[in-house]
Amino acid sequence: MMSRIERNAYMRERYAKRPEVRAYQTAQTLARYRCGGCVSVAGKTRALKEEVLTHYGHDGALECCWSSCTVRDIDMLTLDHVKDDGAEHRKSVRGSMYAWLKSQGFPEGFQTLCANHQLKKEILRRSSLLIK
Ligand SMILES: [Zn+2]
Repeated sequence: MMSRIERNAYMRERYAKRPEVRAYQTAQTLARYRCGGCVSVAGKTRALKEEVLTHYGHDGALECCWSSCTVRDIDMLTLDHVKDDGAEHRKSVRGSMYAWLKSQGFPEGFQTLCANHQLKKEILRRSSLLIK
């Protein structure tokens, strides 16, 4: 396995010998951007996030589950493991957690929280550990 530096040197040398290959690769990359392929992948990812966070949101809406919180901005919403076992669970899920949840038929044990309430929940969890 080549290191990144070795691979860059190898590719530089390779492209120097065959400039037409370099031109072809550049054209292919630009064509992918121009056709919106990258945008469409980002759009699908966002749609999946919206679907999952809506499922786990307050009353099945895209909204934070914390009592009386009304955050609905998808950029500020996160997925919460209700039993605080997220670190362990993430190790067992390969790839996207949102895709995994959908593929499993939206199992129990998750909720949508805004980033502030995700932090607040963690602060409360840690302070309860201190009190014990
Ligand atoms: Zn909230």
